[in-house]
Amino acid sequence: MRELFPIFKAHPELVYLDSAATAHKPQGVIDALTTFYADDYATVHRAAYRPSLKATELYNQARETARRFLNAAHWEEIVFTRGTTDAINLVALSYARTHLKEGDEILISEMEHHSNLVPWQMTGFKLRFIPMNAQGVLEWQGKITPQTKLVALAHISNVTGTVNPIAEIAREAHRCGAVLLVDGAQAAPHHPIDVQALDCDFYAFSSHKCYGPTGVGVLYGKRALLEKMPPVQGGGDMIERVELERTTYQQPPLRFEAGTPSIGSVIALKAALDFIEGIGRPELAAHGQSLLQLATEGLKTVPGLSIVGTAPEKGPLITFRIEGVHPLDLATWLDLRNIAVRSGHLCAQPCLRAFGLEAAVRASFGCYNTKAEVEKFVRLVAQGAASLLTSLTQQAQLARC
Ligand code: PMP
Repeated sequence: MRELFPIFKAHPELVYLDSAATAHKPQGVIDALTTFYADDYATVHRAAYRPSLKATELYNQARETARRFLNAAHWEEIVFTRGTTDAINLVALSYARTHLKEGDEILISEMEHHSNLVPWQMTGFKLRFIPMNAQGVLEWQGKITPQTKLVALAHISNVTGTVNPIAEIAREAHRCGAVLLVDGAQAAPHHPIDVQALDCDFYAFSSHKCYGPTGVGVLYGKRALLEKMPPVQGGGDMIERVELERTTYQQPPLRFEAGTPSIGSVIALKAALDFIEGIGRPELAAHGQSLLQLATEGLKTVPGLSIVGTAPEKGPLITFRIEGVHPLDLATWLDLRNIAVRSGHLCAQPCLRAFGLEAAVRASFGCYNTKAEVEKFVRLVAQGAASLLTSLTQQAQLARC
């Protein structure tokens, strides 16, 4: 698998454990991007010449691939966005602003990434929060009320790794008259996703975490909802008829894709989704679980280390802290030994604060990671922690002198 990723040819020593932030790209995805620019480049939807017709066809094929990837019922339910953040902002700006009224509430959770928190704050509607227990499991029962009009939750937390029971929550949300948006940024690269079985109303994910290019992502929305939503950006491509004083809009999804889209990136996203499907998401999930189990067992033996998030069902990531060791120091120490991990607030400050933390270290796994890498990582975390603690003790002694 590593051989399919040119980055590991350029940097054979690299142990990359930050796929939850962004994943590396296989040659096939890079080829899809460069082939489009080198051989097939043209705009979409506008022109009668053959290169443009071909570009439009490739673009449409990508939409069909994304539809299949999520098992959406209709291609019209797939909107290309700039990523998960952009998709959530689209729903906040379009759906929330036009379907919610004063007194209505939006329910999110304490574990959300800032992308699934700040856009809802910006709507001005009242927010309520589902708390987590000490394991990082949402205590969501009884939290959806008749005032709740929109529920927005991560499928998998980027901090605790918790897999949330989306289908159950969707049922309860609908029973109470609310819609459910799922932030699928951490689930899409590993987890089989069936938006019809989940019965969620919106589902968002980013290409770059799915081995695809940056700057593109997908918003799934149920057709009946998208049809009732106004566009949030005006411009080319999203219009039907424009007069000087007024405009009528295209049907979804084009209504939400104003301007020349990221054509090459969308086409390369198709290659990334084909790559994932080629391996198989059950296989990817099993690989991630075996690395997670190995890392969890290993890290548990490191003195002073506590794992943030111990839910029974987790995605392939592990967040932790070590008593007396600053996460940034440990991440820098590991980086000097070619191990890339994430450190800091993980774009989820309220989530970390719920665990009494301002920062933590996170290791996350992709299809290219191996058991040997995880073993090396665990070994070096133990060594790094010991070495940093020793130098801190020495510094404290020197300071006393
Ligand atoms: N939600 C979650 C759970 C994430 O992990 C991320 C990315 N770290 C995002 C949303 C935002 O994704 P993007 O930056 O690609 O828009």
